[in-house]
Amino acid sequence: ALRRRELAPRELFETYRARCERDPLGAFLWVAEEARPIDPGAPLAGVPLAVKDIFCIEGVPTTAASRILEGYVPPYTATVVSLLEAAGAPTLGKTNMDEFAMGSSNENSAFGPVRNPWDRERVPGGSSGGSAAAVAAGLAPWAIGTDTGGSIRQPAALCGVVGLKPTYGACSRHGMIAFASSLDQAGPIARNVRDCALLLRHMVGRDPADATSVGLPEEVRIPQADRLDGTRLGVVVELMGEGIQPGVRACVERALAVAEELGATVEEVRLPHAPYAISAYYVIAPAEASANLARYDGVRYGLRVDAPDLTAMYEATRATGFGAEVKRRIMLGTYALSSGYYDAYYATAQRVRTKIVEDFKEAFSRVDLIVAPTSPTVAFRLGEKLADPLAMYLSDVCTVPMSLAGIPAISIPAGLAEGLPVGLQIAGPAFSENRILEAAYALE
Ligand code: GLN
Repeated sequence: ALRRRELAPRELFETYRARCERDPLGAFLWVAEEARPIDPGAPLAGVPLAVKDIFCIEGVPTTAASRILEGYVPPYTATVVSLLEAAGAPTLGKTNMDEFAMGSSNENSAFGPVRNPWDRERVPGGSSGGSAAAVAAGLAPWAIGTDTGGSIRQPAALCGVVGLKPTYGACSRHGMIAFASSLDQAGPIARNVRDCALLLRHMVGRDPADATSVGLPEEVRIPQADRLDGTRLGVVVELMGEGIQPGVRACVERALAVAEELGATVEEVRLPHAPYAISAYYVIAPAEASANLARYDGVRYGLRVDAPDLTAMYEATRATGFGAEVKRRIMLGTYALSSGYYDAYYATAQRVRTKIVEDFKEAFSRVDLIVAPTSPTVAFRLGEKLADPLAMYLSDVCTVPMSLAGIPAISIPAGLAEGLPVGLQIAGPAFSENRILEAAYALE
């Protein structure tokens, strides 16, 4: 007869490790040989964690899926990884991603794409596609990723799992390889809302090593209530129209009907500047990236391509080490920041960002939480958008407004369209993580 028996942490780790060794999706770039020792009484009980390869771990190769970091082994560990290990979640492996987190399909990895477990001819989303695919396929019980313009929420949506981008500053960015520093945030990806809350609880906190980190004002609660009585939900008009696949819209509408049955009120809200969010984001994020990526010079980290003199060495290293999308962003960002163009592009984009912050403020004076699709479409085919960067950028239309405003947002599964998962996005004012998690749990 079958008898229920608790798995010892070591057995649990070995079970997942064995699965990851046979990873059929390209989700992992590195799998741990063994778990670091954990305290058996720790709150996360030895449940192994998949870590996006953008987080530094002492002694473990860290690439951000870029050739330019070939051979780089960090001498220190990212704060969120240290916190989670201390809470009892040993690192299972490092997951594949778009190079330097630039992308929405995981096809920009220097180490090959990740496949979506729902349909291996389709993308898992990006840039945290390895983490989302690993959780969806049961290769890892949970994972962490980073979200600059949607990179936790969109892959979670496309893989049918839960992903949360916290308020900017909730988690430390120390040890997280920088893409766009005013937007980058670490966050959890899990199979359900409660696991997501549990991971988040142990990730947040102010860190002296990151001056922009503030933590959260109250402890992250594990949501309990299955009702939404009195919650005012606002559905974003600008994110329910043109460009949103009908099947995706139908799933969001169905979720809103369920929310009303659970006692919520639903009204329409407007974010008049949301249509400009993509344009502003794709100036601001590349501008910050062009500055952050200046450090990869062949001297300080990873790859060096030898050449007769120093300048030629810089050029050869960067030409060889960076992929096409990263080069595109560096050029865009450098151009937008250059004298004579700065006001026209960067300063204008910053003004749009302020307008978007004000739009949300106005919306949150009328409703508690905002609801929208996470992604305008279900998972697209590998290669479908590779030749058209603008089409790829439009995948982020529903997620970048929240990123620019620095507010928290979760994506939860909300049914299927064309047999593929659809994500429902719930966003709230800064530091409203508990409220978002409660609503997400009720609607899950
Ligand atoms: N897809 C967006 C980009 O390419 C967002 C990426 C992210 O959130 N890291 O910039």
